[in-house]
Amino acid sequence: MKLSYNVDLKSRNTFGMAVRAAAFLEYDSVQELADLLSDGRFAGELPLPLLHIGGGSNLLFTGDFPGTVLHSRIRLMTPLPAEGENFRIRVGAGVVWDEFCAWAASEGFWGPENLSLIPGEAGAAAVQNIGAYGREVCELIETVECYDVLRHRPVSLPAAECGYGYRDSRFKNEWKGRYIVTAVVFRLSRSYRPVLDYGHVGQALEAACGSGPYTPQQVRDTVIAIRKNKLPDPAETGSAGSFFRNPFVLPEQYARVERIAAQEGLGPVPHFLMDDGTVKIPAAWLIDKCGWKGQRRGNAGVWPVQPLVLVNATGTATPDEILALEEAVIASVRTRFGIVLRPEVEHI
Ligand SMILES: Cc1cc2nc3c(=O)[nH]c(=O)nc-3n(C[C@H](O)[C@H](O)[C@H](O)COP(=O)(O)OP(=O)(O)OC[C@H]3O[C@@H](n4cnc5c(N)ncnc54)[C@H](O)[C@@H]3O)c2cc1C
Repeated sequence: MKLSYNVDLKSRNTFGMAVRAAAFLEYDSVQELADLLSDGRFAGELPLPLLHIGGGSNLLFTGDFPGTVLHSRIRLMTPLPAEGENFRIRVGAGVVWDEFCAWAASEGFWGPENLSLIPGEAGAAAVQNIGAYGREVCELIETVECYDVLRHRPVSLPAAECGYGYRDSRFKNEWKGRYIVTAVVFRLSRSYRPVLDYGHVGQALEAACGSGPYTPQQVRDTVIAIRKNKLPDPAETGSAGSFFRNPFVLPEQYARVERIAAQEGLGPVPHFLMDDGTVKIPAAWLIDKCGWKGQRRGNAGVWPVQPLVLVNATGTATPDEILALEEAVIASVRTRFGIVLRPEVEHI
């Protein structure tokens, strides 16, 4: 276990916000976490509140954090007895997500290949229900192993109980603060099961590797190539990925956007009709049509290739600069289309 005080968090959040935490604590096992939270050994030593982070890739620190930031160094990857054709593996919450994807592809297992290169760690992947190119991580999760902060005991929660939805789970809602994910049990397969019909993955794969059948490694390499063209590399340009959620609007609101687009010659409005009668409009399209692509406000900017992504353009942007840009983008989309965007990124 390692406890430090007054810690610079710049390297702990992919936005690269130069903020400080009053304390930063890393633990190496469930037992250490249990000792820490249950026996009061650290009572009085740990500034409050507590905040558990992974790779800090979905967070915007809006200023210094007055409490203790917790981080897992549980990095085990333990195979479990197979069930039918399913290979099962327990992955520690602190394992870097893409290292797990790389391992699975190199072993020839299907499952996480479309989720390659998503930043962050395995524990947060189960909290966030990460998704990309037609796959969501909840499809691979058997159970989520947690420490129950309320009852002071380890629990194993079946995926079916975790309330998974689009980039959502009970961990982000009513369970927030109650469960700390310590490990995730995933089910992988050796049976051929690529998902290729989203975001040009199939076309790009065919161009690179011919007509198939393909290997998980080929799909992973293709997804990585597509992502590198589209998204900023956190090692070079700070961001937290998609900053805004895609709005779901009523049909009459969608009709209004269509009218505006027709009047102003903006072209067809991309949209998806949802089962509940609402219409999903890509936030990236709305932001783009407000002229934000590649724009800068001080040290903060809008990524030129994907305007859903706000970036720390110079590496020295402050939280206030990102917040000011966020507000300006929201205001212009509201003024032009009457739609209020909501952030996807968690503000701390
Ligand atoms: C360039 C870029 C591209 C991205 N692309 C995608 C994408 O394609 N698809 C996608 O879904 N996401 C994407 N993201 C968002 C991000 O990578 C995911 O949300 C990721 O799962 C966050 O993981 P993390 O470890 O960084 O979590 P953090 O950002 O540190 O934390 C996220 C949340 O999880 C909680 N948390 C973290 N660890 C634990 C734990 N052990 N127990 C309980 N709670 C915990 C935190 O408190 C916080 O609420 C992208 C981000 C970037 C920067």
